[in-house]
Amino acid sequence: MLVTQIKPEKEILERISGKNVFVFVCPGCREVYFPQEKVEEFIQSLPADRVRSANLDYLCNREFVKEYIQGYFSEIERADAVLVFSCGVGTQVVSSLLENKIVYTGCDTLYLDGFQGLTVQNFNCDQCGECYLNHTGGICPVTHCAKGLINGPCGGAKDGKCEVNPDADCAWILIYKRLKKLGKLHLLKEILPARNHHKIITESLARKKL
Ligand code: SF4
Ligand code: SF4
Repeated sequence: MLVTQIKPEKEILERISGKNVFVFVCPGCREVYFPQEKVEEFIQSLPADRVRSANLDYLCNREFVKEYIQGYFSEIERADAVLVFSCGVGTQVVSSLLENKIVYTGCDTLYLDGFQGLTVQNFNCDQCGECYLNHTGGICPVTHCAKGLINGPCGGAKDGKCEVNPDADCAWILIYKRLKKLGKLHLLKEILPARNHHKIITESLARKKL
């Protein structure tokens, strides 16, 4: 159960404007909070002939999603991009199942009242408040990189393995390979500002007052 909010419309449109999009919506965490109304309004504002969508609770469960997604393969195949409204775990799951498709997230996951209890632990989300998956091909740099680097590798990787944890693949090598495969290496040129830890706290508190 993780708390999410929809990203600024402009930020989502930058990724999907003019494209055929398949949208997944996961309201599985509605008990803690999911911005359902805003998500529906946003989807309705998109050109109907360019958008297909499906609702599915618990996109975080990879085995479940793996089966479910098969019913949509032909529509996904025709789409230029997949957009996911869910917590960071759900987007990572969908991205991992669609190796040849760019998968974007429409949500930021907030650090508030949430717990990652129902998810199978294939992927983690630290609820960082400003999801970076749209820059990294759906691989989380906060949880996957031992140093939580958001603008590229530290340079210490050896044979593809992390210098902090040699048992783990270097997150940034995985990100590079994925973006290369998708023809999206230009995303690496988008230099991100330093993480705003204050944002997590203020936005979470604002949400708590709702
Ligand atoms: S970047 Fe990672 S930690 Fe931050 S919201 Fe996205 S998945 Fe979660
Ligand atoms: S080697 Fe890769 S995963 Fe490890 S800390 Fe450096 S950039 Fe992050």
